[in-house]
Amino acid sequence: MPQTVHIIGAGMAGLAAAVRLAGRGIATVIHEATEQAGGRCRSYDDAASGMRIDNGTHILLSANTAALGFLASIGATDRITGASSARFPFVDLATRGRWTLDLGAGRLPFWVFDRRRRAPGTRALDYVALARILWPTPDRPLGQVISCSGPAYEQVVRPFLLAALNIDPSASSSDLARAVVRESIALGGAACRPYLAPKGLSAAFVEPAMTYLNGRASGLRFGNQLRRLVVAADTVTGLDFGNAVMAVAPDDAVVLAVPPYVASALVPGLQTPDEFCAIINAHFRIVPPPGLAPMVGVLNATAEWIFGFEDRISVTISGADRFLQHTRDEIAKMIWHDVQRVADVPAELPPWQIVRERRATFAATPAQNAKRPGARTAWRNLTLAGDWTDTGLPATIESAVRSGNRAADLVMQQ
Ligand SMILES: Cc1cc2nc3c(=O)[nH]c(=O)nc-3n(C[C@H](O)[C@H](O)[C@H](O)COP(=O)(O)OP(=O)(O)OC[C@H]3O[C@@H](n4cnc5c(N)ncnc54)[C@H](O)[C@@H]3O)c2cc1C
Repeated sequence: MPQTVHIIGAGMAGLAAAVRLAGRGIATVIHEATEQAGGRCRSYDDAASGMRIDNGTHILLSANTAALGFLASIGATDRITGASSARFPFVDLATRGRWTLDLGAGRLPFWVFDRRRRAPGTRALDYVALARILWPTPDRPLGQVISCSGPAYEQVVRPFLLAALNIDPSASSSDLARAVVRESIALGGAACRPYLAPKGLSAAFVEPAMTYLNGRASGLRFGNQLRRLVVAADTVTGLDFGNAVMAVAPDDAVVLAVPPYVASALVPGLQTPDEFCAIINAHFRIVPPPGLAPMVGVLNATAEWIFGFEDRISVTISGADRFLQHTRDEIAKMIWHDVQRVADVPAELPPWQIVRERRATFAATPAQNAKRPGARTAWRNLTLAGDWTDTGLPATIESAVRSGNRAADLVMQQ
């Protein structure tokens, strides 16, 4: 067992690794470049809208056992709220149609055979044809594996996979799409119940983790940006933070849990994904009207998912690179126009904020998926973690937590 594990990066992967190690009584120190933990999964006080907001609304599904396990470990299960069954209200702004996709709460996808529970104008056979996603093939664009058209694809598979993969599903890696479907929708509504963090991401995922770590032999150093790994032969012997080099003792280990573009600059010869996709989130300071469901899917619109929280309405657009040339003002107006057509809200724009995360996730294409490294490196005491490492899943909290858990397990085997 290592003496001390230095974890670089306090995102979900780094926090998951620290929590797992600290839970086994192993000393950890997290070095975080910024002044805040959480990485791409964080809350902050926003002056423009006068609200505490998340960088982006994050959804977990009941299938996300590692992420839910992480929350259980840090005593934060009550910081997220889950629906009792997997019911997703949808509005199609092209037809003005409204329906609820009802996957139920069971373990088998019986909803496919019930016309009232599936999307309008679809037949059970349409879904059976899409089940081809599950057949193993070499990794290729999903559009070469299934027909990415038709009502079942447009109204069910596309919105679901776009949210999970953050890229137009027809261009996505069929391996990653298969992994998502195999772990969720193929297992029925029981695996697809959505969870949200109504009090914010930091209150759910980050602050309880820091409290958990504070109570154990763990340190968290903010403003500590790793500039260089000092190596000798097959071992990391020091961490260069620019103003000081910290020695890594022979029995210490290092978990590098930084984004891929940082890892590839720090680790010689490391290949990582190097193309990214954006996510845009809008937050409007307004109490949602009583009829607005906590989560509504929107089709044929700029907005993709509308979320009603206690004090605000938030909207998510995935694979959002096509909107990056618009000003924030334009995006806010376009999205609010959609919200008005879905919910009973005033025409006047409430106080708002638009968060554009340009490198929200690595691009989930076959080519980028092939660039994901495993956790082990050529240095015996250096392990990688992050949603971009080879977890077999797209870049999600679940992937980040699994990678952190895996890194911790490898370190404990050292
Ligand atoms: C807008 C948005 C919406 C999303 N929605 C969802 C969702 O609904 N469901 C879901 O499951 N996932 C979602 N995700 C993805 C999820 O947020 C990520 O998969 C996850 O947070 C990645 O965690 P990570 O630890 O791998 O990486 P990061 O969060 O990127 O953490 C890396 C950390 O390393 C730090 N760091 C960087 N360089 C250095 C250095 N040199 N030295 C020290 N520290 C350094 C960074 O500051 C950061 O804190 C979303 C992401 C975004 C951006």
